[in-house]
Amino acid sequence: MTSRTKIEAPITTLHGVGTVLAKKLERLGIRTVADLLWHIPFRYEDFRTLSRIVDVKVGQTVTVAGTVEFIASRRSFRRRMSLTEALVRDDSGTIKVVWFNQPYLTKNIRPNDQVMLAGRVSNKFGGLQLVSPSYESLDKGDTLHVGRLVPVYSTTAGITSRQIRYFVSQVLDAAAALPDPLPNDLVAHERLMTIPETIRTIHFPPDEAARDAALERLKFDELLVFQLKRLLDERNAPVSTAPAIPFIERTVKEFVRSLPFTLTNAQRRAAWDMLQEMERPLPMNRLLEGDVGSGKTVVAAIVAANTLAAGFSVALMAPTEILARQHFLTLSRWLAKDNIPVGIRTSAFHEWFMQGEPASGTPAKRPRLTIGTHALLEHRVDLGTLGLVVVDEQHRFGVAQRQTLAAKTKRHAPHFLSMTATPIPRSLALTLARDLKLSVLRTLPKGRRPITTHFLRPTDRDRAYRTITTEIQAGRQAFVVAPLIEPSDPLRPPGREAGRSFSEASKLGVAAATTLFDELVERFRTNKLALLHGKLASAEKDRRLLDFANGKVQILVTTPVVEVGIDVPNATVMVIEGAERFGLAQLHQLRGRIGRGAHASTCFLIAQNVTPLAEKRLRAVASMTDGFALAELDLKLRGPGDLVGTMQSGFFDFQFATLGDHLLMERARKSADTILQKDQNLASFPLLHQAVQRTASEVPRHD
Ligand code: ADP
Ligand code: MG
Repeated sequence: MTSRTKIEAPITTLHGVGTVLAKKLERLGIRTVADLLWHIPFRYEDFRTLSRIVDVKVGQTVTVAGTVEFIASRRSFRRRMSLTEALVRDDSGTIKVVWFNQPYLTKNIRPNDQVMLAGRVSNKFGGLQLVSPSYESLDKGDTLHVGRLVPVYSTTAGITSRQIRYFVSQVLDAAAALPDPLPNDLVAHERLMTIPETIRTIHFPPDEAARDAALERLKFDELLVFQLKRLLDERNAPVSTAPAIPFIERTVKEFVRSLPFTLTNAQRRAAWDMLQEMERPLPMNRLLEGDVGSGKTVVAAIVAANTLAAGFSVALMAPTEILARQHFLTLSRWLAKDNIPVGIRTSAFHEWFMQGEPASGTPAKRPRLTIGTHALLEHRVDLGTLGLVVVDEQHRFGVAQRQTLAAKTKRHAPHFLSMTATPIPRSLALTLARDLKLSVLRTLPKGRRPITTHFLRPTDRDRAYRTITTEIQAGRQAFVVAPLIEPSDPLRPPGREAGRSFSEASKLGVAAATTLFDELVERFRTNKLALLHGKLASAEKDRRLLDFANGKVQILVTTPVVEVGIDVPNATVMVIEGAERFGLAQLHQLRGRIGRGAHASTCFLIAQNVTPLAEKRLRAVASMTDGFALAELDLKLRGPGDLVGTMQSGFFDFQFATLGDHLLMERARKSADTILQKDQNLASFPLLHQAVQRTASEVPRHD
């Protein structure tokens, strides 16, 4: 076989992959050897440092090596699961080991085997134990699963990270044949790793420095494609004019006077800058940045009110159904006396739903202010003569979709305002679009009750639950957030956890909304609870959130789908399980869902796996209230194994790049310029061309 055909070979050519497994791998997008090589780990376990068994302590994640003295599986009747127990000895002592629901382990690990084990030390089951460790027999050469930086992959039911590691290790040599989308001279000039080396390194890095170098290459390519796409879009977009929107002082003054609060200086300033810029016949392209709760919506509303008064239409797009509905209610209220028809358009509201009209009747007028999700982009939707488009919390709408909307407006491009709580450095903002301008709200409105945040160990969970009880008795409501929908863990075969109670699941370091919900229903028997996650149909999500917003439900158990924008001022408690799994900026966004009303609020961060780093990060969130400062700290404190970009949640959708990569973004921009100067249609860069096209055809993601 040539190396070329080797990477194109179907995955079934691998040892251990039959048709059943191939089907499952296909669910992860893996059909060929090349697909497998491009299945990049999302984090690593650091199983490099070997501990002496005598030195291990509760709560630590350790790697030990020794001889298996004993191993046996049995059924635990009370818990209806199987338990595999072993005793492992090194020259300093012995430690007990326990695995759940993996009875086949007694076939793989036998007495007298030399093994290496890596996992968490617990004392929950009496005495010190290694719980569900990763394991590997030491009779062969290099280890894959222990004794190194061990890659952890995204998986699906019936496939483990362990299996993927084994498969990848079989084909690592084939990486030599992977084509490089970049010309050699550029790779050399930018001192980047080649693609074959990048792929080999990212799966099994010898150390962090090598891993970071490989990661830099992945980030560079991703940012380069982003920049190529942007430059091509800008080149193809005709230089357009925009309607000049006169500043109508009376309207703006009246609008501001009618608000139930006084604007902050930052809000005034931001609105004023926009109103001035929109008086010119060139399309404004502005980013309004402000921390969670800083009051961005009202700034957009002022500019919208002025645009409407000048006779133009306005569209506002939100990333989720629920946020669109919320904006619809807020803006309808604020604009009520102006008699402006306000409409909502989402996939749940197929027909226009107009403010002030019966929900059933056909609206007489077309809305002048239209609020919605990406459904607004459908060709059939007539948005009128748009003077302004506002996009909340989702930049992905901003690039290609801006053109779709502009095309709807025939002669003119509308002015464009996007809003985000993601703190984007000015230097980065300058590379996002040719003409992007920034407005920043640095301060929160006066009179906010601060949110008190506590870091809790799992053993102190009850303290959080007592607070929930107290607050519910006082008429308030609570969020309980879990990182996953279903329990599953990359180190263990998933699909075996059905029926496991939350306390069991949490002992294993898993926090899933479904199991947590069942447990909380038991615990808070007299209250009404609802479960929310991204896999529900959107109408159902909507209904459950509305029940919570209306106070029919006291406790909302949810995944981070509530992260962005939701405003339920009566909610005063938030408990975040598995808090160590979230980025600091994301925790800050989440906690921004409380502390929005007149009552003091409390947030509890509960870590399942309390490593020293996790504790440091979470204590930082507990002690800091400034989201911008937290985002910076997040980059400094990132776990050594963490590959997932912080941009992923929120403003951007990069897989690898983070907000800290603005220097790399600048390099990518320069390279994109150089490439396009040489070859303006990317004809000689087919792989780059494909990648750029792929980003073009992506549908905006919403929840
Ligand atoms: P975000 O910037 O996170 O989108 P919002 O626009 O949702 O924040 O505003 C958060 C809350 O603060 C809303 O209930 C809003 O009505 C209120 N708000 C906005 N500006 C002010 C202000 N100047 N004074 C008091 N409350 C304000
Ligand atoms: Mg908002």
